[in-house]
Amino acid sequence: MIDLRSDTLTQPSRAMREAALDAPVGDDMYGEDSTVAQLEQRTAELLGHEAGLFVVSGTLSNLLGVFTLVGSGEEVLCDEQAHIVRAESGSHAGLHGVTTRTWHSAGTGIADAATIEPLIAARGGLLTGTAAIEIENTHNFGGGTIQPYQNLLDIHDLAKRYDLGLHLDGARLWNAHVVTGIPLSDYGKLFDSVSVCYSKGLGAPVGSVLVSNRAAIAKARIRRRALGGAWRQAGVLAAMALYALDHNIPRLADDHAGAAEIARQINEVAPQVIAAPPQTNIVVMSTLPRTAAEVVAAAKARGVALSAVGANTVRAVANLNVSYDECVTAGRVLSELFA
Ligand SMILES: *Cc1c(COP(=O)(O)O)cnc(C)c1O
Repeated sequence: MIDLRSDTLTQPSRAMREAALDAPVGDDMYGEDSTVAQLEQRTAELLGHEAGLFVVSGTLSNLLGVFTLVGSGEEVLCDEQAHIVRAESGSHAGLHGVTTRTWHSAGTGIADAATIEPLIAARGGLLTGTAAIEIENTHNFGGGTIQPYQNLLDIHDLAKRYDLGLHLDGARLWNAHVVTGIPLSDYGKLFDSVSVCYSKGLGAPVGSVLVSNRAAIAKARIRRRALGGAWRQAGVLAAMALYALDHNIPRLADDHAGAAEIARQINEVAPQVIAAPPQTNIVVMSTLPRTAAEVVAAAKARGVALSAVGANTVRAVANLNVSYDECVTAGRVLSELFA
């Protein structure tokens, strides 16, 4: 099976597992796991921030990042396809009293300041006050799209003008960085808090890091414990994330090439299937007039695993465990299926 359902499915390599064997570990709740501390510090520096917090998932990292910026009874603005509204089980509202209000994102998830500005509600008025804006880069349900840097600069200015917090869900920020060549810190410094995942394209088994200033990370650390997310010798996981950091960023370009090849082949026979060529590792396909479930089943029967992400939408995600040649094969299988 050529498994293109997600880039979270990657198996840690032998070398990555070996990196965990000799890593010094300690009780992280006592602040004694030097490997965790190293991962937190290196991630913070890469993103141009003071401090970091290693957590079990991107969902927890986003939950804590938004928590540091938005109080109970306030709102965060984001697009209607954002992971924080579609894929985090209502946790921001349920656990922290944070409501979301969304803007229409025209499919790609590309954000711009002119769309966001009219939504901002003053704090202390009759309406729920806006405390922060949240941006996703790359945009998962938008099809791995990259937020144009100028848009991010404009949104940064907007947030400053209205004294709003700005959180980046950078689960796949690595992919944007590899395509644009823009340093991670140039992305990071525009935001008050940034969440990055080691468990997606970088291929580590578990973990995300939230970065921000020291005070916000200290607050997030205490909240993490309240949520049951403090851990002990997590250095075995941090060691694998450090391995991913050292070895697996440049190779994301291979995933991008694989995704482009899949899209190219499909586009030759069925140009209506893919709205725009993939910018990174995610290929979003329209299955109309068939349902997503029918296409997932048909592809699976031919040895290609896709995931359904809407009634008539499926997704293929190129990843570390699928070679370029397998992407060529998947492209052929899918183009036959869509022809
Ligand atoms: C995967 C992902 C997350 C976090 O996911 P977890 O499964 O909780 O690690 C957050 N945001 C985006 C855009 C993602 O793709």
